Amino acid sequence: MASFLTYVIELEDSEKRTTFNFKQLHHQSELILSSLTEGVFGLDLDGNISFVNPASSRLIRVDADQLIGRTPFETFIKQRREESELIHTLTDGKTRTNNDGYFHNSNGTRFPVEYTVKAMYEDGNISGAIVTFKDITERKESEKYMLQSEKLSLAGQLAAGIAHEIRNPLTSIKGFLQMIKAGYQKDSYIDIMTKELDRIELIASELLLLAKPQINQYKPVEIGHLLKEVVSILDTESIMNDVEVTFFSEYEDLIINGDPNQIKQVFLNFIKNAIDASSKGQNVQIKLLKEEEHALILVKDYGVGIPEEKLGQLGQPFYSTKEKGTGLGLMVSYNIIENHRGQISVKSKLNEGTTFEVRFPIVVNLDT
Ligand code: ADP
Ligand code: MG
Repeated sequence: MASFLTYVIELEDSEKRTTFNFKQLHHQSELILSSLTEGVFGLDLDGNISFVNPASSRLIRVDADQLIGRTPFETFIKQRREESELIHTLTDGKTRTNNDGYFHNSNGTRFPVEYTVKAMYEDGNISGAIVTFKDITERKESEKYMLQSEKLSLAGQLAAGIAHEIRNPLTSIKGFLQMIKAGYQKDSYIDIMTKELDRIELIASELLLLAKPQINQYKPVEIGHLLKEVVSILDTESIMNDVEVTFFSEYEDLIINGDPNQIKQVFLNFIKNAIDASSKGQNVQIKLLKEEEHALILVKDYGVGIPEEKLGQLGQPFYSTKEKGTGLGLMVSYNIIENHRGQISVKSKLNEGTTFEVRFPIVVNLDT
């Protein structure tokens, strides 16, 4: 584009040729706009549509002449005008990108979009905005698929430990049943057996949590309590690998907003990875701290570490250094954290260990 513009401006001496070239430029931009698979539309200062490219019409399923001059709000963008980021950009000129938005087509079907809105300027003043967007249905579908595969694989990897975990209470229940059969009957036997059965039930439901697709349900979550639960699910895993997992917090009552099952999955991933990276006798530390408006969770190991050049690759699908790894765990975790408006960072040194730091916004802090 830039080189074409320069070319046109060089020809400025002849009035006629300039007009001709601007026509050509206009034609060229039209060609570019109509060949894009991304939707592009313009907004005037009132927030009405000033132009649309064919891809927009196709994705929204409305003819261009039905769109121009109209407002996108409460039609294909089901949002109040004043709440929309598009309008905010018209006011403050800031470029905004949203990779988790939704537009509606004329059939009333909602589809996930990623869009960027950029202000247009004329003589230094904002004259409108350009919105580019693409339909990300396929990407969302594959993310969902990867989340599910990672869950199943994690469930598979933990299955040996879980089977083992179920065998202990079963053995004890069997023992008590034999005692009862032999005529030794005590209430305490029944109590212990009930406790053991509860334990089996808990383990089975945790395994189901991993294997079954879940509906996202956001609610207040006591993050300290949740972390303790995750550590206890990984008990057998930690014993089998001879890696001690400890949990420490002075802020156990910190509350964040989120889907408890998804957050559990994140920390199952991180702690399982930390155990995998450790050698026998090492330990993995989980800490929950408070940092201003955030709950900060550290998962620290003293294991193999991650080479510096690989740090940037973390979170990309299928990056795995394990024979039976999926390379999906971190990708899925990063997605979940992002959806919870959290942040993640990693510090690692080869042969010294790795620390994953996760931050979630605190909702209510009962401390203060
Ligand atoms: P997987 O565990 O199936 O390999 P993940 O996405 O969970 O997939 O992790 C991807 C890769 O990141 C791992 O294979 C490993 O190389 C690296 N990694 C993750 N966590 C750690 C850690 N705590 N220490 C060392 N390497 C790690
Ligand atoms: Mg993993």
